[in-house]
Amino acid sequence: MSIIRQNISTRDWTIFSLERAKRPQDFKQKKRKKIDKEYVADCPFCMGNEHLTPKELLRIGEDGWDIRVVPNKFPALEPKDGATLQGGRQMAGPYLCMEGIGQHEVIVETPLHNKSLALMDIEEMENVVFSYKQRYSQLSKNEDYQLIIIFRNHGSKAGTSLEHPHSQLIATPFVPGYVRNRLFEAQRYYDDLGHCVYCEMLKYEIDKDKRIICQNDGLVAFAPYASVVPYNIMIIPKMHQSCFIQADNELLADTADILKTTLKMLYDVLEDPDYNYIIDSAPADKAGEKHYHWHIEILPRLNTRAGFEIGSGMYINTVLPEDCARVLKENKGHS
Ligand SMILES: [Zn+2]
Ligand SMILES: [Zn+2]
Repeated sequence: MSIIRQNISTRDWTIFSLERAKRPQDFKQKKRKKIDKEYVADCPFCMGNEHLTPKELLRIGEDGWDIRVVPNKFPALEPKDGATLQGGRQMAGPYLCMEGIGQHEVIVETPLHNKSLALMDIEEMENVVFSYKQRYSQLSKNEDYQLIIIFRNHGSKAGTSLEHPHSQLIATPFVPGYVRNRLFEAQRYYDDLGHCVYCEMLKYEIDKDKRIICQNDGLVAFAPYASVVPYNIMIIPKMHQSCFIQADNELLADTADILKTTLKMLYDVLEDPDYNYIIDSAPADKAGEKHYHWHIEILPRLNTRAGFEIGSGMYINTVLPEDCARVLKENKGHS
């Protein structure tokens, strides 16, 4: 018999269909083509090819660079001087449209073409996380931008088109309904019960210790109770904080540490799986809110979303999060 679980922070449901349960080895990535070159002549992100990208927005590192942030050459949204929040919005009969104002940036995580994020050392990972915060803070000063999403696509199933290690950031001129709904459900929980729903989950997970994967001083990584896909991982600060902009240097260093640990665990158990991760945060103007709690969501791309999932917004998952947490922890002892 299947089990249906609710994500209390979003009220979304997941069906756990365990008859189709799979073992970790069934998910292992079909041998990824090994990238052996540190430099590729036509890669715009490789050291020495800086002229192939638009003008740099941020550089970290001396003697060349460790991190570069540049505008996306094919941006989903683009900045416009003198835009206002209302600017570009117009009705077309009953329909609403607006100009594609925003910002789309690429965070080039290393000068080396073949370096995997999961295998970076801690200083390199800290540079990545610190650059996220710097760009987040900078863009949040722009009143045209209402939401800033930082994300990483790893592998073709996760939608990446360039193999050189990179993350992305998109600032949008409105808060999309999907995010609005998460904020609304967290607010409703807070109104009903007087607590942050994420803090409540965190307290329970640490106490029960059935789905915890790892933790450090600042954050916890656990497999969510209603995980939407196998090896779904949530990384969340232990201290309540609604917006990523509030993270101080100490918490950012802890974020780099736990992100590195969890990505390495996935790399070892599933042999470098394709995945997406997203920093899910309240918008910067909601920093300090009591009901929302920023976190990082890691979604390995081991299955394809099919018709039922698209039609219902529900997910069918074949592995319980308790089993994912156990497998990841057991393997850590062996690697
Ligand atoms: Zn490259
Ligand atoms: Zn909280």
